Amino acid sequence: MYPDRVVSGMRPTGSMHLGHYHGALKNWITMQAEQPCLFFVADWHALTTHYDDPSIIEKATWDMLVDWLAAGIDPTQATLFIQSRVPEHAELHLLLSMATPLGWLERVPTYKDQIENLANRDLATYGFLGYPLLQAADVLIYRASEVPVGEDQVPHIEMMREIARRFNHLYGKEPGFEQKAQEAVKKLGSKRAKLYNELRTAYQQDGDDDALDQARAMLEEAGSLSMIDRERLFGYLEGSRKLILVEPEAKLTAASRLPGLDGRKMSKSYGNAIALREPKESVTTKIRKMPTDPARVRRTDAGEPARCPVWQFHQVYSDAPTQEWVQKGCRSAGIGCIECKQPVIDAIVAEQEPMHERAQPYLDDPSLVRAIVADGNETARKLAQETMRDVREAMGLSYT
Ligand code: SF4
Repeated sequence: MYPDRVVSGMRPTGSMHLGHYHGALKNWITMQAEQPCLFFVADWHALTTHYDDPSIIEKATWDMLVDWLAAGIDPTQATLFIQSRVPEHAELHLLLSMATPLGWLERVPTYKDQIENLANRDLATYGFLGYPLLQAADVLIYRASEVPVGEDQVPHIEMMREIARRFNHLYGKEPGFEQKAQEAVKKLGSKRAKLYNELRTAYQQDGDDDALDQARAMLEEAGSLSMIDRERLFGYLEGSRKLILVEPEAKLTAASRLPGLDGRKMSKSYGNAIALREPKESVTTKIRKMPTDPARVRRTDAGEPARCPVWQFHQVYSDAPTQEWVQKGCRSAGIGCIECKQPVIDAIVAEQEPMHERAQPYLDDPSLVRAIVADGNETARKLAQETMRDVREAMGLSYT
């Protein structure tokens, strides 16, 4: 089996805001310490919707990478790279496109939503229809076991799984596979071979998923097997096919709890965002100007936190005693709104201080970011090339 890799990408949208931080980056930071992670800038994806104005992509890419590093993505733990610097993604996309039914792409729910949401753009393009397939290539090329996604992206992962399954079914045939697999079983040693056969039967005849898990775990531990025999036995467990592409699982991430300054979703286009590296003075001004409970016209009017976006910020940033102070003070008009906002300002400024510090060396010397990404591109490319070797071979394109 392959290591439990996580793959995740973001479109280069330029400077990131605190909504991105609390929605995605914090998860990335947690994951990078737990398992191998590959994080990429999805510059080709940006072109699927912004093909008519590519001028912003390059700057947006570098700005976003600085933000990732500022937020705490650690290049000694995770691999950071740019999608278009690993052209194997495009090759896999092309090869997968040969066998992907059009209907699979058209039924992805976000396809129709996006067409409606971005009505000002002409998205009746081949590239836009194919972007979930490009996403599939982005993940399958690293044989990732997990993809962190929000609820709305789960259908994309489902489609990736179908694509991987279809690929393995169509191309996972190996001449003499059955015989080679049985020889590999013998290499397990008699006790393990017996158990393997029992578990395989339990899975194939009775659909026993536990048996499948148990057999996989046993193969992981079997030191006597070569990599290729292990792969054969993984494939043999589920049928008579070799596993070339791995079906990834969706790793559900909690949606960001941090709304924009006006209570709607935080977005640069709504003008309600706080940038990840927003200067301190600007944070203070923005929070001071934040709308509050509309019923609290005068300082002496009692308010209701549930109707106030500042309260949502307190829920993210304040500890229990401060939250109680807000609840009581607001409802009794014991505190004023300016007073209420101060702990939020202080907490955001404290959160951002290390981000500013971490960003500074990269701003002073942009070649540092270039070097990190060059390393990441190379690491990612090596992994992608390994998969592509198997893919080409399986599709009869290795020309050896
Ligand atoms: S006191 Fe705080 S929670 Fe209440 S309306 Fe003012 S800012 Fe909002």
